[in-house]
Amino acid sequence: MLTAKTLKLSLKSLREFAKKSLPDEILIELDARDECPMEIVRHMCSPDKLGIQLLFVPEEFGGMGGGSFDVYCICEEMARIDLGVATAVLATFLGSDPIRVGGTPEQKKLWLTRIAEEGALFAYGATEPEAGSDLGALRTTAERVSENGNVVGYRITGNKQWISNGGVADAYSILANTPSGPSWFIVEKGVKGFTHDEPEDKHGIRLSNTAALALDNVYVDADRLVGGVEGQGLNQAQAVFGYTRLMVAAFGLGAGWSALDRAIPYSTKRIQAGGPLSEKQGYTHKLIVPNVARLEAARAYIEETAERIDAGEGSLNTEGAIAKYMATEAGNLAADASIQALGGYGYTHEYMVEKIKRDVRITTIYEGTSEIMEMTISRDRWQMHLKTQGKYYHEQAQKFEALDARHPEVGADVAALALHALAEVMEKARVARLTRNQHILLRLGELVAYAECAGSLARRASLAAEKKLHEKANQRFDAAALGALSRIFAREAALKTAEEGLRWLIGAGGVDAAAIPALEASLGLAAIHRAQAGLIADMDYAADVLYGRAAKRSELAA
Ligand SMILES: Cc1cc2nc3c(=O)[nH]c(=O)nc-3n(C[C@H](O)[C@H](O)[C@H](O)COP(=O)(O)OP(=O)(O)OC[C@H]3O[C@@H](n4cnc5c(N)ncnc54)[C@H](O)[C@@H]3O)c2cc1C
Repeated sequence: MLTAKTLKLSLKSLREFAKKSLPDEILIELDARDECPMEIVRHMCSPDKLGIQLLFVPEEFGGMGGGSFDVYCICEEMARIDLGVATAVLATFLGSDPIRVGGTPEQKKLWLTRIAEEGALFAYGATEPEAGSDLGALRTTAERVSENGNVVGYRITGNKQWISNGGVADAYSILANTPSGPSWFIVEKGVKGFTHDEPEDKHGIRLSNTAALALDNVYVDADRLVGGVEGQGLNQAQAVFGYTRLMVAAFGLGAGWSALDRAIPYSTKRIQAGGPLSEKQGYTHKLIVPNVARLEAARAYIEETAERIDAGEGSLNTEGAIAKYMATEAGNLAADASIQALGGYGYTHEYMVEKIKRDVRITTIYEGTSEIMEMTISRDRWQMHLKTQGKYYHEQAQKFEALDARHPEVGADVAALALHALAEVMEKARVARLTRNQHILLRLGELVAYAECAGSLARRASLAAEKKLHEKANQRFDAAALGALSRIFAREAALKTAEEGLRWLIGAGGVDAAAIPALEASLGLAAIHRAQAGLIADMDYAADVLYGRAAKRSELAA
């Protein structure tokens, strides 16, 4: 783990490098030319230059051994600079993850040291033309090559699709079917039979190289089989999902904030109807504040998950999925709202928000689509619901009721309403067997993400009030502002959980018309409606904070 001071210094040098080497004019030009700036990517990954890759490599292999929290902070900062460059740099960590979690000691030493000391770039080759979300449909094969009854190597044949760094990497991890099942292999560039296509002409992240790969009977020695045992590939991929999805969650967060951080100052200068847009509630409370609340709810979840992974709680795949889902969906919404916030200027290249919007779009697709995240979340939490006879979310809600007793200002009571409603929706869905509709299962995933993130943000606001936030936690908002954002988001989450839950329960035929009033009562709908009281005042306060007016207003009031 990095010290807080080292992390701060690393973030600062990253920021300074980006300011100097990747100003807006250059980013716009590279985006228009659809060009991956390889000298910049190499500079960022060179140990004697910026050396970002050192932060991720364990100390024993020459790196700095950054943990999940460090990785989240770096990924957010990278995404604020440019998501294409961030993808290019971070592909190395995805690509080397199978080795980090499943490699033999020799493989780790060889490859992780090459990343740390030589700045070797990796690519992660899982997706195929016919196997995207469902990696089980993998067609690439690795046939054993034996001598005197011993496996000495493999011949790999197949195609990989949409591979980040596909045309520029020095080494690739390639998932292929061996006789004992899917396995990762390390394949170096330039080996016989291994080729890549021209870079894809993409909607966004045009500063990253994405290319298809072709492997035609490519020979690798047996020591290129990651872990030395066949059939471990999907487990090795699964083992890092919590961690890698946090990276993409941080991308969504960074990109969403980078768009809002253009919209917010713009709106202070743009005068319409006699005053700046920043003074107009119909503008701030639609385009800015709700997006800030969603992004900060996602941040709270990311920070909690990162802290738990660093504390050794395992790979936390479901939590990684919730973090990715919330942050990337929120990042997309924030970037879209930022185009609207800039009006016609937002729709042009020059003002950058349209580029950010195109770039952030990828985050709900790669490293598991949002629909796959909904399924992952829902399946796991459905099991929790069943295992606890429906008590799981009621018990979570009780914890927030207890938190509310200590901190009535952080919206924990409303988060509790969301969690109680969720427990009831799940129970009704169980009794009426509604999850045989896949759509219901996936919608439950969405509601889970909202309700759990409401809890996280309330907890984060309470920790801020007690001055107990993680030492590396983002400090943009103080306790009062986090409290207001938490109350705003908790209201949204509770309303969504109850109303959409009700909608899908009725929509799937799980409730008779006569039973609807009782169901509304069991979901706490009236209490959730009552909890909307004070929403506009909280949004006013959040807008004041965002526009630096809060202190001025309290001075005036005094
Ligand atoms: C720019 C870019 C970079 C990428 N980089 C990499 C990389 O470095 N390495 C790598 O291995 N891959 C990479 N990918 C691939 C990426 O991870 C896949 O595109 C993604 O996993 C989705 O797979 P797919 O494109 O085949 O879509 P599909 O799996 O065909 O999905 C299409 C749609 O159907 C939905 N869907 C799929 N299955 C279900 C289901 N069971 N139920 C309901 N809905 C479903 C999906 O959510 C999606 O909306 C990259 C992709 C892009 C575009």
